[in-house]
Amino acid sequence: MSFSSLDLDQNLLSAVSELGYDEPTPIQLEAIPAILDHQDIMAGAQTGTGKTAAFALPILHQLSAVNYDSTPEVKRPIRALVLAPTRELAQQVHKSFVQYGANTPLRSALVYGGASINTQIEQLNSGADIVVATPGRLLDLMSRGVADLNEVQSLVFDEADRMLDMGFIDEIRKILKKVPSERQTLLFSATFDQAIFDLSKTFLNDPKLIEVDARNTTATQVEQMVYEVDADRKRELISHTIGSKNWQQVLIFTRTKQSADLLASEMTKDGIKTKAIHGDKSQGARERSLEEFRQNDIRALVATDVAARGLDIPDLKYVINHELPFNPEDYIHRIGRTGRAGNTGLAISLLSAGENYILEEIEAILDTKLPQQWLEGYEPDLTKPAPVSRKNTRTAQKRRAKERAFGKKPSRNKGNKR
Ligand code: AMP
Repeated sequence: MSFSSLDLDQNLLSAVSELGYDEPTPIQLEAIPAILDHQDIMAGAQTGTGKTAAFALPILHQLSAVNYDSTPEVKRPIRALVLAPTRELAQQVHKSFVQYGANTPLRSALVYGGASINTQIEQLNSGADIVVATPGRLLDLMSRGVADLNEVQSLVFDEADRMLDMGFIDEIRKILKKVPSERQTLLFSATFDQAIFDLSKTFLNDPKLIEVDARNTTATQVEQMVYEVDADRKRELISHTIGSKNWQQVLIFTRTKQSADLLASEMTKDGIKTKAIHGDKSQGARERSLEEFRQNDIRALVATDVAARGLDIPDLKYVINHELPFNPEDYIHRIGRTGRAGNTGLAISLLSAGENYILEEIEAILDTKLPQQWLEGYEPDLTKPAPVSRKNTRTAQKRRAKERAFGKKPSRNKGNKR
């Protein structure tokens, strides 16, 4: 099915074609007609599925349909608001609105913390049809009287699960008090749990549920692999693999800022140009490192989960989990950085003694077992006593909550499969 059959404004179709999109992705095929039909939607879609265009295109279409005065002197009201959990995601969504709306007079403003508020005030004062914002900075601008949300018709929660994980619920409630109740609300989330359903019950009006992939499954184009290795040899294995296979662009995840910094500096000593991004780095430093990574000026980027949220690195092929995340849903987000928009990817996770329970949680939520291997020369030393594994039931509880929310009979606990 082609984009032209989606009943979108010609100016949007031409922008999409200039970007080289041949046909809509599954989420776009489902979401665009529903949004054009003025329905609220709740969509389960990871980054990489084309979800941004799935909401940006119909919003731009709706905004174009109203003939507002497009002369620069006339300030137009904010009619669409997109809330995103991180600066990086907000930047990407804004960029998408700019690209898709390139042939329209519509303007998008980007609002996020850690950057000059004065520039953002100027942008808003000169009029924006669309505002893409992280919640904290938007509230700040609202309290200064610069962001008036009285005329918002479309509200999008992007990566709603992460917004809740990051504790933005109070900010969301405050923002929603200032948005008209007569509006269209679109919620996108990579994962669903009870908190998301609670949010949807409060803020969405009889939403259409859209799921393109099975919930909580990883993109099928990503090959996943687990290497068992001693903890103190993980860095060596990573540098060896990148060097011997001549990988040029590798995204590596750690659990903490400290291990991100340490790993980046040790890999650089190994001769692999590496930088780290995490919450303690300034916004400017994070953006510079990202750009160097995108441009292949550095070979590896080490990131914590928060810093990597929403990153779009076209054609990224390799993701390595130096440490598995404690939150299994972060695993899905991490490996979703590769295998995007139809490309294939490889995600390698390093597992050392005592970490099996983390892998089990991930496997339970994916409902699959990940293949495990030993890499020659890096076999774990089995003579070392293994730390005692912690029993965990959180994943099973979450799964049952989800099943209840979807009206299914809760299944038996299969969280501890081995
Ligand atoms: P997203 O899931 O919105 O982060 O999009 C992931 C990537 O897919 C972005 O680089 C988009 O530019 C690209 N993309 C979105 N829709 C399409 C499409 N229909 N065809 C090809 N690429 C697309």
